[in-house]
Amino acid sequence: MDSTEIRLASRPERRAKPTDFAAATVPVPAPGPGQVQVRNSFLSVDPYMRGRMNDVPSYVPPFALGEALTGGAVGRVVASESSDVPVGALVSSMFGWREAFTVDAAAVQVLPEPPQGVAESAYLGVLGMPGMTAWVGVTQIAPVHEGDAVFVSGASGAVGSVAGQLARARGASLVVGSAGAPEKVTAVRDEFGFDDCFSHLDGEPLPHLRRLAPNGIDMYFDNVGGAQLAAALVVLRPFGRAALCGAISTGYDGTPGAPVATMGLVVGKRLTLRGFIVSDHTDLQSAFLAEVGALLAGGRLVFRETVAKGIASAPEAFLALFEGGGQIGKVVVAV
Ligand code: NDP
Repeated sequence: MDSTEIRLASRPERRAKPTDFAAATVPVPAPGPGQVQVRNSFLSVDPYMRGRMNDVPSYVPPFALGEALTGGAVGRVVASESSDVPVGALVSSMFGWREAFTVDAAAVQVLPEPPQGVAESAYLGVLGMPGMTAWVGVTQIAPVHEGDAVFVSGASGAVGSVAGQLARARGASLVVGSAGAPEKVTAVRDEFGFDDCFSHLDGEPLPHLRRLAPNGIDMYFDNVGGAQLAAALVVLRPFGRAALCGAISTGYDGTPGAPVATMGLVVGKRLTLRGFIVSDHTDLQSAFLAEVGALLAGGRLVFRETVAKGIASAPEAFLALFEGGGQIGKVVVAV
């Protein structure tokens, strides 16, 4: 069997571009003892991957030049020499950005079949890393309490769309969000059930936040950093808290973002700002799956996917995460 894979051809300077990627087709060996051969069905493209393209130390090592990129993937076992992982098993792995691969069975995780009506790609979104990121932020990092007013930036994306809904399910009395394009703002309000949403393309964020949350907010789920973080610090009430999840407005190009001009407010208002990385919380995965799975099964959690078709579309799907395109919810590539 052959597999087409996407490699990192050059390290991007600032914004990544199509020529930073190259496709190559390689043979996939038959599995040896204890190994499985997997054909991927869906690949994940995520903003954090941009940071791994820089040759700088981080919480995950940089991608190697000239080698296939890695990332979340779900697929089916098509050949097996392992008694633990049979042919036909649905598995997740970090062997994304390629059509197929052969590895030791211990390097894949066998998944239960998804609930009725839910595609297996959900394991890359609402039931996977982004969904868990939202859940960790809302339950562990800056817990949402009954009656809280909550602001979620990046609210049309994989993490933000779930974070707002989880805040609501936990009793928040007001949930507002921000997004870019008009269709994203509409989706945040009408599909994901936020009380309101503003466009960060429509002037400074602070007047919008003052209008949507006139009595201030108790919790901020930050996906973007920059100007929206600065504005959120102004409207956070005393003793408010923020889960600092991402800073995508800085582009993840290795340069530090601009200083947050309102940081001095943290002291007088006794705010708690806490950054986090979801992979530090894997011990909570079953609690996450129980809560989010129940909300999904009960129809109390809506999720959207934007699906790119074919391995060759992966670089474009990834680049669009940073370009404010029309993608709503989790972006996946159907192999
Ligand atoms: P998505 O790509 O699904 O969503 C990101 C959103 O960011 C998009 O909806 C886009 O929406 C918005 N965005 C892009 N560029 C800008 C910009 N310049 N200014 C403001 N908004 C922008 O990503 P995820 O939902 O998967 O990730 C959201 C954030 O969470 C990212 O920062 C990511 O790095 C971070 N993250 C952190 C994790 C952790 O463990 N801490 C784990 C997973 C993700 P729009 O076009 O509407 O602006």
